[in-house]
Amino acid sequence: MQKGKQIYEGKAKILYETDDPDLLIQEFKDDATAFDATKRGTILNKGIINNKLSEKLFILLTDKGIPTHFVKRLNDREMLVKKVQIVPVEVTIRNIVAGGMAKLLGLEEGIVLKEPVLEYHYKEDKLHDPLINEYHIRALGIATDKELDTIKKYSFMVNEALKAFFNSKGLTLVDFKLEFGRYKNKIILADEISPDTCRLWDKDTNEKLDKDRFRRDLGGVEEAYQEVLRRVLE
Ligand code: 5GP
Repeated sequence: MQKGKQIYEGKAKILYETDDPDLLIQEFKDDATAFDATKRGTILNKGIINNKLSEKLFILLTDKGIPTHFVKRLNDREMLVKKVQIVPVEVTIRNIVAGGMAKLLGLEEGIVLKEPVLEYHYKEDKLHDPLINEYHIRALGIATDKELDTIKKYSFMVNEALKAFFNSKGLTLVDFKLEFGRYKNKIILADEISPDTCRLWDKDTNEKLDKDRFRRDLGGVEEAYQEVLRRVLE
């Protein structure tokens, strides 16, 4: 696969064209940002860890019937993915109260929700990814009814699959963020699945093993990411 020109650089990843117009190379960086990129840093080897974790988790989800943009991992930091048109909505699923939900509703972190909560956030850093609902999405033509139904269905399927998988590795899946894209008129899962995009707590101690260690200056950030990779691959 021939690597072509860079077409996008985000906070954690770079996308390159390939000689196939339907495929891109997604490179994972060690750069870390938080709070709309007002906090910046580096997590040593994060790119390698997130590439390998995303590979494993995308394969698991494909096996569960959820289509994803993942094609294959190329090397330590790069994977081949399908070129999608990203739907500018971040889908968050929460099983336990933390982060944004704790702040929004003035709740203690750690409350186990009676059922998973699905949120949509409009993907726009300048506006701090504001919380929106299905009416905004439909009324503004961000996605169609049919696309939203598919996005919702896949998001809950991802939650069930990842909750069970992480649980079997001694990890509690607190919440996570997904991004979807359009590929040949179908909705597929895109972006990445990693401790950058999921909150993962040790099942026994509730120790945080995700990007909150970076966001909140808890130390041991690289070690936490390594620990998640070790458990996921064992
Ligand atoms: P919260 O809304 O509580 O900040 O985030 C909920 C979940 O989605 C967390 O697991 C968080 O890591 C993930 N998430 C939400 N927004 C973003 C984002 O812009 N970038 C990344 N990497 N993860 C996000």
